[in-house]
Amino acid sequence: VLLLVEVAAEAGYVNHHKKKIAYLFSAMRHWAQALEAQGHRVDYVRLDSPGNTHSFKGEVARAVARHGATRVVVTEPGEWRVKADMDTWAQACGVPVDVLPDTRFLCSTERFAAWAQGRKTLRMEFFYREMRKAYGLLLTPGGDPEGGAWNFDAENRKPLPDGVVPPAPLSFPPGALTTEVLNLCRARFADHFGDLDPFDLAVTHADAQRVLDDFLDTRLAFFGDYQDAMKMGEDYLYHSRLSTYLNSGLLDPLPVCRAAEAAYRAGKVPLNAVEGFIRQILGWREYVRGIYWLTMPDYATRNHFGNTRPLPDFYWTGDTDMTCLRETITATRRNGYAHHIQRLMVTGNFALLAGVRPADICDWYLAVYTDAYDWVELPNTLGMVMHADGGYLGSKPYAASGKYIDRMSDYCANCRYNVAEATGDTACPFNALYWDFLQRHEPQLRSNPRMAVIYKTLDNMAPEKKAALRTRAQGFLDSLPSGGYGAL
Ligand code: FAD
Ligand code: SF4
Repeated sequence: VLLLVEVAAEAGYVNHHKKKIAYLFSAMRHWAQALEAQGHRVDYVRLDSPGNTHSFKGEVARAVARHGATRVVVTEPGEWRVKADMDTWAQACGVPVDVLPDTRFLCSTERFAAWAQGRKTLRMEFFYREMRKAYGLLLTPGGDPEGGAWNFDAENRKPLPDGVVPPAPLSFPPGALTTEVLNLCRARFADHFGDLDPFDLAVTHADAQRVLDDFLDTRLAFFGDYQDAMKMGEDYLYHSRLSTYLNSGLLDPLPVCRAAEAAYRAGKVPLNAVEGFIRQILGWREYVRGIYWLTMPDYATRNHFGNTRPLPDFYWTGDTDMTCLRETITATRRNGYAHHIQRLMVTGNFALLAGVRPADICDWYLAVYTDAYDWVELPNTLGMVMHADGGYLGSKPYAASGKYIDRMSDYCANCRYNVAEATGDTACPFNALYWDFLQRHEPQLRSNPRMAVIYKTLDNMAPEKKAALRTRAQGFLDSLPSGGYGAL
């Protein structure tokens, strides 16, 4: 008997985006239908099924009793919280529970732990090279990296030129099952974050495969060049929009990487694009998952900079004059999606510079994206963005002033703040916040060799200018309302 359950405890433990809940329930219902069509015996507990206990454990226990089961077999979960719960199932249900490895990943937790063993610092680049060799991806017949280098990231930092219009993403109008789920979500999760309509996500493997094919045909060629670009009104640019499908299992990572490699071998896409794309999936995606299971549950409590600031309310509402943040957050509300540079260098960068509590910003990222699960959200947010792990995941914080956002986007040209100014009421807040951050955390950051150049610039700054930057940063942060949203 294959058991699938929709439970309120999972839908509501953070303020999940309405689209995320609808996507998961619809994909589950479609999958159940497909399994039944293949002749499997499926037991599906809907959110509104009578007697639903609304917890995994409660539903597994009920199902064990219902079917007289002598054994439960389950795939390892994506969250520590669920693993801790699973560890209690055998006792609660009175039958053994076998936990199988998760085949949605290419590096098992044991293999990652073996790679990490004895290394003082972990670096994604070295892990990625091992993975390329292990899976024979983008290698010459002699086993060397295709094109003579492992990484072509330096070629992948172009802003989007004027007049270049990315292709419209594929859109899947809701069918009958999805419409049913949307109605359920409208009734049950009205107070959750984000817009439910329009809902255009794929909810079956076949449609997710169409998203992949469309990406390979129309976007991958430019994925590398414009990977870091941001543009007003362009929610997806040349990104794949595949994370939601990979993380929930509608697509598997290896066929995706192999299909991208095949497009390169067929001469359809350049190497910098395909290498960049495969690095994200084979490298970053596996690396962050490895770190999560290696370091949890302690990792979630880390707060290297001792941040205490609550999350500003505009993260939930998008109500801010800072165009970069408003664009990113309103797109997030609409789609349950923002691309990597928006997550890292706009919403993430602001939280880092402002000194937001890691737990607050982590909960936000976990809630608002349709691809978010603790194993991937936490290392990206707490480690990569907030540097709250003290540099375990990445060697330096990605802190940046408004200059970076101006270089990579057209946001600043459309903002009421002036990106060329650092102090005064009309100055871009990112500028003062950046210099304030460097001064505030000098004890933790000055000795980092990768920060040496920037601290030299700070050393050459007049004391009055440094003080003025701190005053502007403090004044701006104090003016931000917080605590009004987020909790359910
Ligand atoms: P593309 O840009 O097309 O990249 C291709 C694929 O590579 C993605 O689909 C994804 O599977 C993988 N990938 C790329 N970067 C990463 C990364 N850093 N970590 C893991 N996988 C990566 N990704 C999630 O899947 N879930 C999250 O909850 C999540 N939270 C994030 C939080 C922060 C603060 C940051 C900076 C990044 C986060 N990411 C997360 C990583 C990345 O931003 C998303 O995977 C990506 O934006 C998804 O869009 P896409 O499918 O169009 O990606
Ligand atoms: Fe963002 Fe500053 Fe640019 Fe405005 S000027 S869009 S706040 S970086």
